[in-house]
Amino acid sequence: MEGSEAGGGGRHGDDAGDEGKAKIHAMLIATAEPIGKAATRPTTERPDMLEERPQVYDFRSVERRWQEEWERTGLYRARDDDAREKRYVLEMLPYPSGDLHVGHAKNYTLGDVIARMSRMQGYNVVHPMGFDAFGLPAENAAIERGIDPNVWTRANIANMQRQIRLMGTGYDWSREFATCDPSYYRWNQWIFLRLYADGLAYKREAPVNWCPKDQTVLANEQVEDGRCWRCGTLVERRNLSQWFLKITAFADRLLESLDRLDGWPEKVRTMQRNWIGRSEGVTFSFDIPDLDERVSVYTTRVDTLFGVTYLALAAEHPLVAKLLDRHPSHRAAVDAFTATLKNKSELERTSLMEKSGVFTGAYARNPLSNERVPIWITNYVLAEYGTGAVMGVPAHDERDFEFAHKLGLPIARVIEDPRAPAEGAVLAAFVDDGRLIASAEFTEMLSERARRAIGDRLVELGRGEWTVNYRIRDWLISRQRYWGTPIPIVYCPIDGEVAVPDDALPVVLPADVPITGEGSPLARDAAFIETTCPRCGGPARRESDTMDTFFESSWYYVRYLDPHDAVKPFDSARVDPWLNVDQYIGGSEHAVLHLLYARFFYKYFHDNGWLHGPDEPFQRLFNQGMVLRNGEKMSKSRGNVVGVDETADRHGVDAMRLFLLKATPPEDTMEWTDDGIAGRVRFLDRVWRAAEPLAERVRSVPLNALPQTTDDAQRGLVRALHAALKSGAEETQTRRFHYNTTLARLDELVNALTKFGQMSGAADVPAFLYAAHALPIVLAPFAPHVSEELWRRYGYATSVHLERWIDFDAAALAVDRIELVVQINGKIRARLDVAPDIEESAALEAAYADPNVRAHLEGKTIRKQIFVPGKLLNFVVV
Ligand SMILES: [Zn+2]
Ligand SMILES: [Zn+2]
Repeated sequence: MEGSEAGGGGRHGDDAGDEGKAKIHAMLIATAEPIGKAATRPTTERPDMLEERPQVYDFRSVERRWQEEWERTGLYRARDDDAREKRYVLEMLPYPSGDLHVGHAKNYTLGDVIARMSRMQGYNVVHPMGFDAFGLPAENAAIERGIDPNVWTRANIANMQRQIRLMGTGYDWSREFATCDPSYYRWNQWIFLRLYADGLAYKREAPVNWCPKDQTVLANEQVEDGRCWRCGTLVERRNLSQWFLKITAFADRLLESLDRLDGWPEKVRTMQRNWIGRSEGVTFSFDIPDLDERVSVYTTRVDTLFGVTYLALAAEHPLVAKLLDRHPSHRAAVDAFTATLKNKSELERTSLMEKSGVFTGAYARNPLSNERVPIWITNYVLAEYGTGAVMGVPAHDERDFEFAHKLGLPIARVIEDPRAPAEGAVLAAFVDDGRLIASAEFTEMLSERARRAIGDRLVELGRGEWTVNYRIRDWLISRQRYWGTPIPIVYCPIDGEVAVPDDALPVVLPADVPITGEGSPLARDAAFIETTCPRCGGPARRESDTMDTFFESSWYYVRYLDPHDAVKPFDSARVDPWLNVDQYIGGSEHAVLHLLYARFFYKYFHDNGWLHGPDEPFQRLFNQGMVLRNGEKMSKSRGNVVGVDETADRHGVDAMRLFLLKATPPEDTMEWTDDGIAGRVRFLDRVWRAAEPLAERVRSVPLNALPQTTDDAQRGLVRALHAALKSGAEETQTRRFHYNTTLARLDELVNALTKFGQMSGAADVPAFLYAAHALPIVLAPFAPHVSEELWRRYGYATSVHLERWIDFDAAALAVDRIELVVQINGKIRARLDVAPDIEESAALEAAYADPNVRAHLEGKTIRKQIFVPGKLLNFVVV
């Protein structure tokens, strides 16, 4: 998506806090070289010295060759007519913004490993890729450098395709498309017209969020803390006629089905719940006696009704004009105040500006207490939220308190504050529930009961009704920009707003439109704008707004399943067998934007019967963590970007993939280090040295039967292999994806193979050949190139990536001996080789027998000994 630095993190959200730093530290320890290897290389070796050292494994001659071969043979092409159970693995549609760095690579690598593991476990896997190609950066390049957005975008796509291929990722490129292809956005228009026909797409005049820098309207979801999500500029308010999609009609269902999405991170579900923002309350009215009018307010705290000391209106509230007609002496003051609010953003008005307001001269009447309360116009009540009017309860609402305190309005306490004396000045708002005071017959009730009783009373009196409110607004999709999908509507002087008929789609985005950065480029393009009315044939004008790019990314994952359909967006017969997406992978910055819109579209498609099955698009969601360099997010301005090209060239992509997966669990932030990548290069050398010399012999030992042996070293080899097989299978099946643990097992396996291979006659030992034979299979999802090369050298004619994962064998994992650590005052003094079920007394005996332990106990008094069966014996001595 636009703004998605696919490797994680938009403008916020993923920065490593203290916890992140601790994890990075732990990771640095975890990636240290395994014991036994350090001896062969001086620890002072600098990674750049690797360049001079002849490499044992020559990745340069291997990686590109296999990538071409896999593509040529269509190895990763998913077939619809396959009886095996399906798996749909998907990374978020990337925005083609330029060069990829290792942060992006982490995202694609994780998805690739999941797809490869699933394929090897016998699933029919679809793993597609495409490009989210409309959007602002291309248009900004046009404004800044005069480059045609289409040329800029196509060049970026070509470069990004090359880089994604370079990573050895197994995508089904036959399904690829870019959302700026007319053959794709045509169906955007088609879907828009269905929404329009169903009343779910509509146009209205509305105050909108306007980014003065990007010169465009932003959806509420694209305003973060009052600032433009792309450029950080403070957003302004403007009135414009805009197209909206009625996502609010789905608010309750979007909320409800979140409960069923238990494969999603809880954090994302919480953010969506808060964004939808369902609340239950009462909408009721205050009389304005001298005007014979009523003002409607909504509150979730009707239990504080007796504490209302003023009524606050938005400056744009429709009653303001009437109030001023009645109280003309207040007009000048009100007009002056209103002028100060012009163009002020929502954030400025609700948070940044000091609370202020102006009295209108008018009073309203509290419907239950009959008290007269003054009507004020304030800067912190907005017309488009709720009713544009708020009851002011300063004793029990912080904003109201701040306002009343500043302007000297009365503050009436109606809920007992256990921390403050009942009499005397109210020094702060008490916002919790509690026991009612000074509230007529409702006094003494607890808040919850009082809400029910007071609400019911208002309903009985015909003054109010129980209301469910949502914070979510309709989705504003109009953009006054060029590089997007044209909205398929024309305006006819006779027929008004007319939908472009299906057979006239696509409304093609014209080429060669001058882009200046001011206003809408399409609106100035006469050849585009001037058209004929589809209904009467008379002259008409086209809509010049284009769609928010989140429209395209709301349904692309369905199109992948029927990517060449020229008759409709997709055919249910083709897409149903694959849906929904089993595993979705992407950055947490899309928690409320893309992920909410996509759920909305999918439910709409489902309602229309265009697809079937679950009415949620993404069964599981995984948010990967970022990759840092020198403790900071990679960026060109910081000069700390580690590019995919240079990494592939210097270290190879297998080493890159292994480091990205091994450094931390994938959801955590990791630090890219020179030592880390160098360690993985050396690991691949060890793999090569251990397995390649055996290429001619390994097939003499089949993989379908465990070699039978009682020799400890041989059993250790088999056990190390099966521990890695078990870990890989389990991390995939549990969807934990902590492949860092699998790779730690692989380190152990390769170390065991290396050590065993140094013994004379090793190459005749079946267990050794068995483990070497299986090595490319267990390594294949993580380091696909070296695995393929070894596999073919073993004499196989078909790809290792078509092999079945080997089911681990519990018998192979059984352990005869374990290592019991002996500590004295927390320091390790011995590692004893003992039976796994050794008892405390026998363990003590073995410890006393160890010379080093004895030396450290000499002359000391044992205060305490702690025995952790199977693991540890700890002495506390003085
Ligand atoms: Zn902006
Ligand atoms: Zn007409």
